[in-house]
Amino acid sequence: MTPQNELPTTYLVVGAGPFGLLTARGLLHQGIDVEIVERHDDVGGIWDIGNPGSPMYDTCHFITSKTLGGYVDFPMPDDYPTYPSQRQVLDYVRAFARAYGLYERTRFGTEVVRAEPVGEGDDAYWRVETSDGEERLYRGVFAACGQQWWPYVPELPGADEFLGEIYHSSQYHSPQQFAGKRVLVVGAGNSGVDIAVDAAEHGEASFISTRRDYYWFPKQVYGVPTPDLMTGKAPFPQMPLLGRTPDPMETVALVLAAIGPMSAYGLPEPSDPVGSTHPIVSDLALHCFTHGTLQHRPGIARITADAVEFVDGRSERVDVIVLATGYDMRYPWLPDGAVDYEEGHPVFHLGTFGRVRGLYGVGTIHPSRADAWQIFDQLTHLAIADAKATLTGENAENLRVLREEYEIDLKGGFPYLDVRRNVNQAADAPLRQLFDDLQHRFGIEMPTELKGGFFPAGTEAAMTATAAVTA
Ligand SMILES: Cc1cc2nc3c(=O)[nH]c(=O)nc-3n(C[C@H](O)[C@H](O)[C@H](O)COP(=O)(O)OP(=O)(O)OC[C@H]3O[C@@H](n4cnc5c(N)ncnc54)[C@H](O)[C@@H]3O)c2cc1C
Repeated sequence: MTPQNELPTTYLVVGAGPFGLLTARGLLHQGIDVEIVERHDDVGGIWDIGNPGSPMYDTCHFITSKTLGGYVDFPMPDDYPTYPSQRQVLDYVRAFARAYGLYERTRFGTEVVRAEPVGEGDDAYWRVETSDGEERLYRGVFAACGQQWWPYVPELPGADEFLGEIYHSSQYHSPQQFAGKRVLVVGAGNSGVDIAVDAAEHGEASFISTRRDYYWFPKQVYGVPTPDLMTGKAPFPQMPLLGRTPDPMETVALVLAAIGPMSAYGLPEPSDPVGSTHPIVSDLALHCFTHGTLQHRPGIARITADAVEFVDGRSERVDVIVLATGYDMRYPWLPDGAVDYEEGHPVFHLGTFGRVRGLYGVGTIHPSRADAWQIFDQLTHLAIADAKATLTGENAENLRVLREEYEIDLKGGFPYLDVRRNVNQAADAPLRQLFDDLQHRFGIEMPTELKGGFFPAGTEAAMTATAAVTA
């Protein structure tokens, strides 16, 4: 047994993207020493188009409104539009890193290439090797290396015969790629939809192929950001004709009624309930469908040298096929068995605990609510409390119970479709239950959505720091 005073006390955060940074802020807030290792030369993760391998593109805007997006106690600047651009999101993330002194904690241009656990239980620690050949010891490791770095490319019949360009959406960065081209986008995640719109506006023709049918939402309904309205974060606007405030189910029904049937846009009508797949949020796509500049097609039957045949028998000649088919998530620097995987997605207990002591996953679940950054700002406090318990013994028995015994079905019985993307889906009610249990049953201090002022710095620092970077 290694004496406590000889064990490392610093924690490692792998990745200085939005969630690595919020993790480091949380650790520092609890008085825990932290080092961040980032392979790129600046903070920002995917939001920095210059980060090699980033799937970001010029025309991307947040699909989360600025009120729901962003960190706890660090609001996006007032002068940001409702849906900030990728450049504004990047500026905001960098402002956050400056406001909380996180640049000083980061080793840039350094990749974590191997991490292995040493010892067991409370004495366990980690030996970590980086691309510069250094080896350092840490008490634990927070894996915050992102979800969109390992493109998932399904097998499509005939793809090898195609003589045009075929690439994954992560290689799309600018609409200029589409000048004069007939483009087919495969898949309707939010990147796929944005890319199809760019092709509609800048290419010769644009098609989007989906195997299943979706609800397509505009970014605003009744003058309110749709995600804010659907999640009850924004009040329903006064409607004298209605005479009362609708309840949540009525709100969803009223939003759907305002959009109208999908067939009004030339789209198939989904038969699954709202929320069973990710929401598609794009005014521009709906606009392009009604103008005929973007056309929907069902799944692909076969690809030929210059065309794509669809399962309904139609066929389109295309020059470019963009595979917006999603991502796997991997940790090639971890030993085998440190993390369980399901269909290319890592499964951490409570979205947090790896299979080895002191290994924590960050940003691995998909909350059905739009305020993902705030949810991770809360959820990381479970891992942070575990790190604190390891270092100080504080609340140790409760943390043991959470690691080893406490279970909650994060899908909450909601009928999510059985597709790869939904492996780590988390519904609103069980997440609320989890956060409530963490605070009230297990005594873990964490920010709540309603409680501001948890972190020092906060609003004033946000304004100053953001003004400095955007100046
Ligand atoms: C096009 C697009 C639009 C999106 N829009 C939204 C949105 O509107 N709202 C929303 O909430 N989410 C959105 N997302 C989800 C997005 O994943 C999150 O917003 C956020 O970027 C996740 O932060 P992260 O820190 O987990 O990961 P990332 O942003 O991916 O950052 C991970 C960091 O880890 C570094 N790294 C990886 N491996 C190593 C290693 N071995 N050693 C050292 N460093 C390493 C990477 O260089 C990177 O900087 C979008 C995603 C995409 C692709």
